[in-house]
Amino acid sequence: MSITEQLTSQDAIQLENDYGAHNYHPLPVVLSKGEGVYVWDVEGKRYYDFLSAYSAVNQGHCHPRIVDALIAQSRKITLTSRAFYNDMLGRFEKYVTEYFGYDKVLPMNTGAEAVETAIKICRKWAYEKKGVAEEEAKIIVCENNFHGRTTTIISFSNDEGARKNFGPYTPGFLKIPYDDTEALEEVLKTEKNIAGFLVEPIQGEAGVYVPSEGYLKKAAALCKAHNVLFIADEIQTGIARTGKLLAVQHEGVRPDMLVLGKAISGGTYPVSAVLADDTVMEVIRPGQHGSTFGGNPVAAAVAMESLEVVKDEKLAENAAALGELFRKELNTYITKSEVVKLVRGKGLLNAIVINDSEDGDTAWNICVALKENGLLAKPTHGNIIRFAPPLVINEEQLRDCVRIITETLKEFE
Ligand SMILES: *Cc1c(COP(=O)(O)O)cnc(C)c1O
Repeated sequence: MSITEQLTSQDAIQLENDYGAHNYHPLPVVLSKGEGVYVWDVEGKRYYDFLSAYSAVNQGHCHPRIVDALIAQSRKITLTSRAFYNDMLGRFEKYVTEYFGYDKVLPMNTGAEAVETAIKICRKWAYEKKGVAEEEAKIIVCENNFHGRTTTIISFSNDEGARKNFGPYTPGFLKIPYDDTEALEEVLKTEKNIAGFLVEPIQGEAGVYVPSEGYLKKAAALCKAHNVLFIADEIQTGIARTGKLLAVQHEGVRPDMLVLGKAISGGTYPVSAVLADDTVMEVIRPGQHGSTFGGNPVAAAVAMESLEVVKDEKLAENAAALGELFRKELNTYITKSEVVKLVRGKGLLNAIVINDSEDGDTAWNICVALKENGLLAKPTHGNIIRFAPPLVINEEQLRDCVRIITETLKEFE
């Protein structure tokens, strides 16, 4: 088989099954083209993408400006390593720090790497700035968190699938309930050697859990009072997804460390970053952390263009307005629904909770039916379906999607 030969969906699925590790359980659809809010399968059927690659494709599939930036930079130079300077990285660093309002940035590639980076910086800050005794630093995390897949990160997950038989686990993490400032205050008061508090402003993978109003603000204030770094993992919630550039901005919070990934490149290239001020970032000296591809010229060019698009196309404003509309329409539907218990979310990061047990298959079957009806979404945690379209969606398209979703749900009532 040549690499250009057109495959059927069945062929493509069979190939992945035969030759790839079985580390995912995809919906049976094989995509070969994307544009804006749409994707097409290899047979030419068009779908609305309501996953957006876990909110990496906020700017829409194959955004022409971002693709142009990728191609133009790829023709000049792609990778220098950080052994030498390149003429794009500094430009990106100035751009991204001004964009988010921090002194410094440390660029990486994947989300998990950026979280690892934040953990390392936080620990080093605790030893060198706060005076925590060597090997004693602890980071507070939340139950049902998702921060990535490395051995350290899964060490503080409570998803059995993500954790079991991957030990021994990295120590140094304390887990408290999410959306519980009393639990946070308690641990800050009783435990010594706390370096940081790592939190998702909305728990995406856990099923789009939106915390109570004021949670982030109170948590950030508690961290400040106890000289503990407030670290926001905005890999999924950031870059306009929830109706503001960052989800923490809904509560006027400025994290000590900001972790970004996914849509910082519009889903075009793996780019992630940690932002912090000098008092924190200066603990990292040459040779102490890095990545061969981190901060490469293509990543720099793609990320700058992706962030420009977010501003130029007012994606945060669009997510805020259409998110309201989406929840209003679905809330109207569920008043007479037996299948959907609840709609929740912020901006265009939303979910419905299906009236079924966590290990039931209703949500999966609804997603298969949605696919048949031209819309792609995926269950998270069994009975929850996340709806997160590209933020370039317009009102007419969104109303069409609400129609597809409600008509599909009716098949299950
Ligand atoms: C996706 C995600 C990550 C991990 O990013 P990868 O690029 O998959 O490593 C970390 N944190 C959150 C909140 C995420 O949604």
